[in-house]
Amino acid sequence: MAEFDIIVVGAGPAGSAAATWAARNGARVALIDKASFPRSKLCGGLFTERSRSYFREIFGADIDLSQAVTRTACALWYQGEELATLQDVPPLHLTMRLDIDAQMFAHACAAGVADFTGHTISEMTDTSVTFRNGDTLTCRVLIGADGVSSIVARHLFGKAFDTKTIGFGLEIEAPAALQDPQSQPLRIDFAAAQWGYGWSFPKQGSTTVGVGGIRAENPDMKTHMAAYLRTLGLPEDVAKFKGHHLPFGDFRKVPGRASVLLAGDAAGLVDPITGEGIAFAMKSGQLAAQAACEALREEAPASALPRYQSALKEMHRNLRIARNLRRALFGPRWQKPLMASFKRSGTVRMMYMQLLAGQVEYPALTRRIITRLPTYLFRALASPQK
Ligand SMILES: Cc1cc2nc3c(=O)[nH]c(=O)nc-3n(C[C@H](O)[C@H](O)[C@H](O)COP(=O)(O)OP(=O)(O)OC[C@H]3O[C@@H](n4cnc5c(N)ncnc54)[C@H](O)[C@@H]3O)c2cc1C
Repeated sequence: MAEFDIIVVGAGPAGSAAATWAARNGARVALIDKASFPRSKLCGGLFTERSRSYFREIFGADIDLSQAVTRTACALWYQGEELATLQDVPPLHLTMRLDIDAQMFAHACAAGVADFTGHTISEMTDTSVTFRNGDTLTCRVLIGADGVSSIVARHLFGKAFDTKTIGFGLEIEAPAALQDPQSQPLRIDFAAAQWGYGWSFPKQGSTTVGVGGIRAENPDMKTHMAAYLRTLGLPEDVAKFKGHHLPFGDFRKVPGRASVLLAGDAAGLVDPITGEGIAFAMKSGQLAAQAACEALREEAPASALPRYQSALKEMHRNLRIARNLRRALFGPRWQKPLMASFKRSGTVRMMYMQLLAGQVEYPALTRRIITRLPTYLFRALASPQK
């Protein structure tokens, strides 16, 4: 039996950030993942400047973007019509998760965490984890950073999320031999899925193409994906569709219990409009580790949760506002007039791009929308509804 101050389950962005931050603050940390690294994760891999600044703050170095593609132009489409191609947008880094997650994990190892990747958990309590081989680790604080199907969330609450209310995405990697990614624009298609969108993200060796949205609104996601591939001029059988859930706006109000904390997707920390999750995963991992270290210093492990909840307030507020705004962007009543204003207004388009690039927070965005609301309302009411 090996003893640790903190066990982190999951070595993705949330887990590697939590483990690195805790180890640098003097904690003895075990980092567990069922996968061995480097490992892939289904994701668009859009890494914003917000992600980059969190990465620098947490890991103490800039991310290596030599394997990424950075674009400052973006094409926006709606129902087969190009709304605009925007130039000079904030930088959007298109990465492969195999690469960036391995970088984060390497930082965690360099910070001195004990590496338990490639280990399968068979049992757990609030203060211990037992592997399939019978080995047991104990801790005083446990951080669940094990993604949308979190075993730690299931241990605490019986299930991780209701799959009907969260999001689901399908993706393929279109090979460079079929379509040269360098000549492809970074493209977003509103309405490629219901309450969601489609994306085509050029990478160095392929183009990541996907559709995603609220699962319950898209029982036929494969049909949406096939249609989107046709729109992009790609054959439907270009590659096998891969799917993954994302907790699209379904964050946990109480992200844990006493000395057990949930971070990243396990806590539902994904932007319900843009689908951005990497930044919130890293940040929440850091905040969970900070709360854990402070609680341990005070010899009060059970105080980790209230400390963490208070640190997460701002992020929760942002996600709550985003969830309300999502009705306007994706809801059928408002989408047409909103898309019309996208077409007309450079300001609206730039606001969206700033959002996608992680350069504006929702409270500031809401203030800007409110000042323009009379114009939006007038146009919405004037436009004929189906
Ligand atoms: C189709 C799709 C596209 C997306 N595109 C983007 C994008 O372009 N940009 C963006 O910012 N976000 C995007 N996201 C969201 C983003 O992928 C997630 O928000 C992010 O990966 C969350 O990080 P995490 O560390 O919380 O979880 P994960 O990255 O899911 O990491 C969890 C880790 O836990 C491990 N694990 C799971 N279960 C266990 C277990 N039982 N025992 C041990 N280990 C376990 C896994 O192996 C994994 O390594 C997308 C999501 C989807 C589904």
